[in-house]
Amino acid sequence: MTLNERVLAMKDDLLACLQENLRIPSVEDTPAEGAPYGIACRESLDHALKAAEKLGFRTENVDGHVGWCEYGEGEEMIAVLGHLDVVPAGDGWSFDPWGGEIRDDRIFGRGTMDDKGPSIAAIFALAALRDSGLKLQRRVRVLFGCNEETGARDLKYYLANGGEIPVMGFTPDAEYPVINGEKGIINVTYSRSYQQTGELKLLSIQGGTAANVTPAYAKAKISCSPDLAQRIAKLYAPSMKFSLRDYGVQVEAFGVSAHGSTPWQGENAIGRLMLALDNLPFEGEMQQIIHFLAEKLGMETTGKSAGIYLHDDVSGDLSLNWGTLNADEEKLSMVINYRYPVTKEYGDCAPALDALFAEAGFEKAAEAHKAKLYIPADSDLVKILLKVYKEHTGIDGKPVSIGGGTYAKSLPNILAFGPIFPGDEVREHKPDEFIEIPKLMKNAQIIASAMYEMAK
Ligand SMILES: [Zn+2]
Repeated sequence: MTLNERVLAMKDDLLACLQENLRIPSVEDTPAEGAPYGIACRESLDHALKAAEKLGFRTENVDGHVGWCEYGEGEEMIAVLGHLDVVPAGDGWSFDPWGGEIRDDRIFGRGTMDDKGPSIAAIFALAALRDSGLKLQRRVRVLFGCNEETGARDLKYYLANGGEIPVMGFTPDAEYPVINGEKGIINVTYSRSYQQTGELKLLSIQGGTAANVTPAYAKAKISCSPDLAQRIAKLYAPSMKFSLRDYGVQVEAFGVSAHGSTPWQGENAIGRLMLALDNLPFEGEMQQIIHFLAEKLGMETTGKSAGIYLHDDVSGDLSLNWGTLNADEEKLSMVINYRYPVTKEYGDCAPALDALFAEAGFEKAAEAHKAKLYIPADSDLVKILLKVYKEHTGIDGKPVSIGGGTYAKSLPNILAFGPIFPGDEVREHKPDEFIEIPKLMKNAQIIASAMYEMAK
């Protein structure tokens, strides 16, 4: 039997195992002893490890954060990284999200695609590889994370507790052909307090819902004399609305929402609001703050006016998304989500932005940084994955760079590879999540081949 045939021969066992795991609603929940992400995540991990044991693999449970099974000998180890935690079911299902029902050659349930399907497939891929008797130079490990969806603390724990780092590997938790570049992502919160002077007084600003979403709506409440309010309420600007209120005037800005990794596909309502407020006769500190924000950020999406524009040919421009702004009469706080190109560094942009805001009197209240990931197209890993992809699909794949971050960032030497094929609908996190059984088996075959090519 070829390796491909061996994988296919395990189809019934693979499906039964996946169905069992799909019936465990492993959404993050209150921590318990040995279950840092809740009892169900721990049960899902125990189930996968038991399945691997039954197939004859050595396993380890790293305190309920992550577990792994392994086969082979050798100094070096290659890895397949999956995760067993899932997002909540949500509404709109026509199947039981925790049922693992099979209908029309599809298997339905939360996690079928993201990421229980590929994770369970990897266990059986490893069994097929072992049974094939093909010679391996490196150990092959399948890692089961339990906290991908809500913070990736699982792999942080693994690394902090001496978890072995693979020499290469992949995570089947995104898409084919292969993602070899992921921009560095910075979420920064700047805040500033002020004393207002002059006839116009800002009461509040509310804009945006999250750092990584381009805001579609922002509004400011401004108190002023009835005369001035009358004049402002008569103003007109595209996608803006000025309305008389008993306290003075309300200014609303409308934009177009987009994902924070592609802000150029949207229109930033906060930036639009700031450009409009910059035309009103604020005075003193408030005038300076509004002018600074309108001029340095405005509706820009590449950080040019803020002096942090970067570009490379692999991943394009630095992207900047002004995600939220909240202000009252005395202070404001805002979050910017920006992403630097894969061949650049944190130091190429963050210090400059911090200095700009510091000079304008802002304080950096918080920051989260996820470093970029980049493994060049001519590396062994990318070449192996694309070769395997071509063997199984007939397609010459090109590596892709993205602005979003995948699970690959959680462990060194890992790239995102599968399970979604180009042109397929993305069903992760949506109702009626399913995977076609032929595609699940195709994924299992690809995983087995890639394990072999990396370990041989
Ligand atoms: Zn996932």
